[in-house]
Amino acid sequence: MRIRRVVIVGGGTAGWMSAALLTKVLGTGLSITLIESDEIGTVGVGEATIPPIQVFNQAIGMNEADFVKATGGTFKLGIEFENWGGLGDRYMHAFGTIGRPLGLTPFHNFWLRARQAGRADAGSLWNYSFNYQAASRDRYARLDRIPNSPLEGIVEAYHFDAGLYARFLRQGSEAGGVKRIEGMIMGVNRDGENGFIRSVTLKSGETVEGDLFIDCSGFRALLIGEALGVGYEDWTRWLPCDRAIAVPAENGPRLRPYTQSIAHKAGWQWRIPLQHRAGNGHVFSSNHMSEDEAAAILMGNLEGKPLADPRTIRFRTGRRATFWEKNCVSVGLSSGFLEPLESTSIHLIQTSIVRLVQMFPDLNFAAANIAEYNAQVGFEYERVRDFIILHYHLNRRTDSAFWTACREMAVPESLTHRLDLFRQTGRIFRENNELFSEVAWLQVMVGQGLMPESFTPLADKLSDDQLGRYLADLRQIIDANAGRLPGHREAVARLIASAV
Ligand SMILES: Cc1cc2nc3c(=O)[nH]c(=O)nc-3n(C[C@H](O)[C@H](O)[C@H](O)COP(=O)(O)OP(=O)(O)OC[C@H]3O[C@@H](n4cnc5c(N)ncnc54)[C@H](O)[C@@H]3O)c2cc1C
Repeated sequence: MRIRRVVIVGGGTAGWMSAALLTKVLGTGLSITLIESDEIGTVGVGEATIPPIQVFNQAIGMNEADFVKATGGTFKLGIEFENWGGLGDRYMHAFGTIGRPLGLTPFHNFWLRARQAGRADAGSLWNYSFNYQAASRDRYARLDRIPNSPLEGIVEAYHFDAGLYARFLRQGSEAGGVKRIEGMIMGVNRDGENGFIRSVTLKSGETVEGDLFIDCSGFRALLIGEALGVGYEDWTRWLPCDRAIAVPAENGPRLRPYTQSIAHKAGWQWRIPLQHRAGNGHVFSSNHMSEDEAAAILMGNLEGKPLADPRTIRFRTGRRATFWEKNCVSVGLSSGFLEPLESTSIHLIQTSIVRLVQMFPDLNFAAANIAEYNAQVGFEYERVRDFIILHYHLNRRTDSAFWTACREMAVPESLTHRLDLFRQTGRIFRENNELFSEVAWLQVMVGQGLMPESFTPLADKLSDDQLGRYLADLRQIIDANAGRLPGHREAVARLIASAV
């Protein structure tokens, strides 16, 4: 028996992304209702994304120019990390590849060989990143390949206003048949026998029935947590930050095509350039810093005039014990939270809803299907968690108790193994479709000061001369082509001029 009625609770980014994809791919024969409360509102932050968002936007048939125009969007080629490994350090997690593998040999092994041989011409790892070379010059163009070369071109994501994105998705979803109800849910009604959710009751007295419920109610987790009692696994022992102070401000003089993440004494600050303003926030640990001090640090590090009062958001890092329980699937903040250091929350919404589509149930709600979904989402959350812990753990900072505690903490076994393997051999492996690639792990490990003791013997197949020429050619192609790209500001202006 097919599911006919889907009820989405919540109209933030998670709610409207869910509505948009479900209408697009399963629309016919499915009645979709989304309930949101103006009185409660949305979390109101979330501006940086990662490249797979393009796949989502294409899947729902979104026009890029219209989307960038409607959301104040800009392009993002990576995240620059400042003061993370040590005070004064700076590196980028740039999207895309670095260098070029030869056969089965990942590129970084050639670079490591040259470094270990003491060759000064090897230079920085980021001399071989086209995204980095474009980003650091504030340049951008859509480019699949570097012309006349076998090298990959630019790999981009976006910065945008998530509130405007949700509004944009809402237009398309309502046009596609999604019914929106504005109102506050006061009660969740469950089946007396199997505990499934049958309906929700609004403040107005209206009752909305459904076969499948998607909980997009944000941190309050109205259905999965409050009604179904599914617990929350707390990861604060590894990720101690529990507050963010956010404030919009005028942009500085540059329109950077990358996010900035600047580490402070007990956390870090984001700067995200949109067309019309910059998003800023300070994520910190309330055990190590007062709110007043955190706000003062943030306000003292803006590039332009603040455009609103700063506001504090409290959170607890972790994940829902199960993401899908009975006939309820949690998507977005109700399913867990990882701080925005690697811009993963909107991505986790995307993968959850895509998985739900791929594992769409019927009215039998097969237990094996639910177990598979929970295992896949859990694995993804845990690997992203490890990647974020890595940034905190791998530091040499001695200027605050916070950084010392992060360096000295015991980290999950999965991360310890990865660090040991890289330190001893220079090897990195991507496991089971996990989100972050070898190149992402490489940049953070090298960027934060971890240089391997060795590299693969496969990298010895080039002679010293060949190695020198190989590296020099790559540097020259990347450098020359990055210098020829148009400016980021100009690229955004040209794109939005083509919007309808
Ligand atoms: C400080 C911070 C920075 C972030 N930065 C990024 C970033 O750079 N990149 C990124 O990808 N993500 C980021 N995120 C995460 C991102 O903001 C969220 O993942 C995303 O906005 C999804 O939120 P949501 O839709 O789950 O919840 P919300 O936006 O909180 O929406 C909840 C919805 O549920 C409704 N609701 C709740 N209770 C009821 C009720 N009783 N009745 C009716 N309706 C109800 C509300 O009205 C609202 O519509 C950040 C998060 C935080 C906290």
